[in-house]
Amino acid sequence: MILPRDKSFSANQLAEVESILADYGCSLTVIAGTTRTIYAISGDERDEEMVGRIEGLEYVERFDRIQAPYRLMHHASDLSSHRVRIGGEILGHGFHVIAGQCTIDPRNPQFFLETAHAVKEAGAVAIRGGVWKPRTSPNAYQGDDKALEILIRARAETGLPVSTEVMEDRHLQVVMDAGVDIIQIGTRNALNYGLLKQVGRGTAGSKMVVLLKRGMHMGPVDEFICAAEYIVAGGNPNVVLCPRGTKPELDGYRNFPDESITPLLKGRTWAPVVVDPSHAVGKASLVPFASLAAAAYGADGLNVETHVCGSKGIGDDPKQSITPAVLAQLIRDAKEIHARTLGYRIPMTKA
Ligand code: PEP
Ligand code: MN
Repeated sequence: MILPRDKSFSANQLAEVESILADYGCSLTVIAGTTRTIYAISGDERDEEMVGRIEGLEYVERFDRIQAPYRLMHHASDLSSHRVRIGGEILGHGFHVIAGQCTIDPRNPQFFLETAHAVKEAGAVAIRGGVWKPRTSPNAYQGDDKALEILIRARAETGLPVSTEVMEDRHLQVVMDAGVDIIQIGTRNALNYGLLKQVGRGTAGSKMVVLLKRGMHMGPVDEFICAAEYIVAGGNPNVVLCPRGTKPELDGYRNFPDESITPLLKGRTWAPVVVDPSHAVGKASLVPFASLAAAAYGADGLNVETHVCGSKGIGDDPKQSITPAVLAQLIRDAKEIHARTLGYRIPMTKA
């Protein structure tokens, strides 16, 4: 990773750096952070001669060699001052909630629109709604392009940013064109490195936020962080880490709730952590407990399935969506708990 002395390199400086790197078989990706642009190197960046030539340029501040398997995501990388924004809100400053239906039912658009207004009223800062759904059974409802129009209508009516999952390149193009604000990469695709690269490259330089769910079969915390590194290395630093429970499940829950990895993630990276309690526990009655636990573990927010009439919903909504009234209470309580965690310090891991 190369850090410029100024906010970014000029075109001539960039060309000079690239030509030196090319001598050693390396190339650059430009990543525009909030405060400064950094330059990620692809290829073997250990050649001392190459490092020396780059460090010798007067307009280069530093050549960073972080030893962790991820570099851009590391809390000590120059992206550590980067802040991810959802609409006018800065994640990490306060406690932010994304809420809405698991699945938008194109036959019942009024439910989604009512849910969108209700979650706004409850204090959510963004609205979620699944247009395309990754379903375990190929015979279950798979989603519908028509649902995207409903999502965009909810955005226009409420003025809030909207979030939906993409599973393939075509979805990515469609949501970019439609003006979706947050892309969700679901648990099943968290290890789909081809898609992660595509999403990083396809959203590079845009304001698009990518909310990456933790893979349900992921093990070490670093595996999750490395998956996010693919997106950042593609050129988009606006990533959010979203623990959502893993397999095998804890008997009685849908998954094994993993909000407890929040402080581990925050000790290793600068990225905000927004926990999904809904898929972790899988039952509406248990969602408030997991939500408050996530706040107690220092999460920056939640991604919660909410529905005005869950029993008439589709996908996960009949089982695990909470009502807007429960959401409103939960947001109030979680904010209070989150505020109390601020007095505790999370130890940072070494570079
Ligand atoms: C969802 O958010 O509705 C969803 C499918 O999430 P996950 O990928 O975590 O199962
Ligand atoms: Mn769901």
